[in-house]
Formats: sequence, structure tokens, C-alpha cells
Amino acid sequence: MTDTQTRLIHHPYTPPAGFDAPQPGVFKASTVIFPSVAAMRTRDWRYKNGYTYGLHGTPTTFTLEERIATLEGGLQAVLVPSGLAAIANVALALLKSGDELLIPDNAYGPNKALAEGELAAFGITHQCYDAMDPADLAARINARTRLVWLEAAGSVTMEFPDLIEQVRICRARGVLSTLDNTWGAGLAFNPFDLDGQGLGVDLSAHALTKYPSGGGDVLMGAVTTRDEALHLKVKLTHMRLGLGVGGNDAEAVLRALPSIALRYRAADQAGRALARWCAEQPAFAQVLHPALPGAPGHAQWRQLCGAADARGQGAAAGLFSVIVDERFSSAQVDAFCDALRLFKLGYSWGGPVSLVVPYELASMRAGWPAHLRRGTVVRFSMGLEAVADLQADLAQALARALPSG
Ligand SMILES: *Cc1c(COP(=O)(O)O)cnc(C)c1O
Repeated sequence: MTDTQTRLIHHPYTPPAGFDAPQPGVFKASTVIFPSVAAMRTRDWRYKNGYTYGLHGTPTTFTLEERIATLEGGLQAVLVPSGLAAIANVALALLKSGDELLIPDNAYGPNKALAEGELAAFGITHQCYDAMDPADLAARINARTRLVWLEAAGSVTMEFPDLIEQVRICRARGVLSTLDNTWGAGLAFNPFDLDGQGLGVDLSAHALTKYPSGGGDVLMGAVTTRDEALHLKVKLTHMRLGLGVGGNDAEAVLRALPSIALRYRAADQAGRALARWCAEQPAFAQVLHPALPGAPGHAQWRQLCGAADARGQGAAAGLFSVIVDERFSSAQVDAFCDALRLFKLGYSWGGPVSLVVPYELASMRAGWPAHLRRGTVVRFSMGLEAVADLQADLAQALARALPSG
């Protein structure tokens, strides 16, 4: 039973006596009642040898933590109220004043904002590195570097880095690595075994808000590890910051997990079909999808994710961006986004509704990356609508707002 989907459906779970249903129940509590003072003193939430307080976990959150660890190829997981809270939990657990962290220049934006805000105020410095140049990462690691963030594919511009080489560099220099694994979702590759020989990141942060929830109606995050001591560090910070999640939200994710692989594959197929179609449209100067030959990091994507699909197609999130030819003004690009009917304007992704967001890349990167054409970036995320309908929507908005010829 090695397939992730099969394992998520047939996952160990002990139902309440006499009630054996396939789906776990929802338990909600702040107070947990102890049978005796002795029990109060001996139960230790850190080791899950009993329940002590809602913030420290319930049967529902413990069950979800175990399933997320399975999904990610890890051994322990901690749930937090959002993907961004997972990023913050990792940073605050591992860094102290005087330390430095490294963030890829194409990282999820709020990760950089946290470093520029609270972390800087705490005396923690950061540098951004070029995700596509392992030598740049290596050169920036210094005696104060404690943590390196990794992200594959990069946010908005979708470059796929050489994760194996990046992790080797971190290992060789004795620096912890954390992957933002929201794009891979535990399905495109195993973050804890990148090369099939056990080389992996130390921690994985995942916005469960995206594919694990799948509904566009839950905010949640997880931090997964394989090392017990590292897990405990994350968990202590989690407890001291009070980052618990609600039982109903945990149940919503438990309900969606059995179908995650199907939804991921459907979004992937739609994303690739539309990315290929967009590559034929003269209004778009460049299409950014790591599974498209010629896209930044395509070879690295093929190396890491190429075997994730039995049909040899590889796996990718249903997400891609286009760079609209610079002959079009940003007002015209806005009009294109406004003209879309099925693609809704909105942040996040992984739910049933397809979404679109225009980005002014110049304000998001240290400089304009050499591998990107100039123009306005538009990111599309695939929902679960029929591909033909989505393509027709793109076609009508293009004809209306970005006419060519
Ligand atoms: C959405 C996202 C996050 C943050 O998740 P929230 O639950 O919205 O806070 C972090 N990283 C990546 C790559 C994301 O796409």
C-alpha cells in the first residue's frame, strides 16, 4: 500500500467503541477533564500520551497531524491557523537575535515581509538569494546563518530550483533547511526524500489552505518534520504562541484529504492544457509553468517530479503565470483580468473556483530576473471547472482586452 491516496483513505484511526465509521469524528474542547490530580500531573501533551487542553490537541487534530505527516513523508506534524503561521512558527522556533536566515528572492511574499518586520525587530537578519543559482545560495551562507527557506516552484514566477543541490549545500554547511511545500503538496515529490536515498529537508511548511482543504473555505497550515527534537522545538513555540486550530476546520481538512490526489491531478491536467494554449497566444510573451519545456527550471522539475505520475507525465500544481507582452499597458492587463468570467479575481488557490491575479513583479523582486521577459505578470490557478470552459473564458477576455494583430 504505497500510493498516498490509498494510505490517506486507509489510515490508522481508532473510532469510539461501538461506532466504526470510515470518517473520523469531530472533537472540540478547550477544557479536558482529568479523572484525578495524578492524571493531571502525568499527562504530557508534548508526547501525546494523553489529552490536557484543547490548545494542545484533540483526537481530531491529532488524527489530522498524523495524516499530514503521512502525506508529506514526515513523522510528526504540528497544525497552525494558516500557512503563514506555519512559516512564522518555524522562524520563531529556530531563530534568535543575531541569527540570519536566507530566503529565495521568489519566495511567497509574506515570508519576506515577516523577515523585514518582526524578525528584523527581534535582531534577526535575512538575505534573499537567487533560487536558480545554487552558487549564490552557497556564497551567502555565513557563520550566522541558521535557516534556509526553500520553495519549489517559486511564488508567482514558478521557477523550479535544483532542490537536491540546495539541500546538499545546507547539509554540507550544517544549516537547517525548511521547504515551503504548498505547491508540491506532498504529491509532486517527497520533501524528506528528494533523491531516493533519503536526502531531504529538515522541515516542511504547508499551507493546508490550498490543496489539503480543497474547498477555499479553511485557513490552516502545518509544519512537518522527521526529527523528534526538531518537532519538539516547533511544538514548544507553537504552544507558547497559542497557535491552536479549531475542530471544525480540522474536520473539513480530514474530509477533503482522501480526494487530494484526484483534485491535484485534475488541476495539473487543466493547468498544463491551458499553459500550452497560452503559449500559442501572441499577447503572452512568456508562459511560466515548470512542466513546460523551456520554462525556467523545467529540467529540475523533470528530475524531481517526473516520476511522480505512473504514466510518466510527472506531477505539478495547477498553477501557472503568463507575462503579458510589454506592448500592452498595465491598464489593459487589468481590463483582461476584469473581462474574465470564470476565473475570479482573488488570492489563494487549490479550491474549486479558478482564480486570477495580476502582479507588478518589479516591486516583488530584488531585480528583474534575466530569465524573464519584460511585461506584466498574471497568475492563473485552476479550479475544477471543465478545461474547455476555462479556455473559452481566456479566449473571450483576450479578444476583448488584449487584441493582437
Ligand atoms: C498560500 C500560501 C501560503 C500561506 O498560506 P495561508 O494559509 O494563506 O496563510 C504560504 N506559502 C505558499 C507557497 C502559499 O501559496
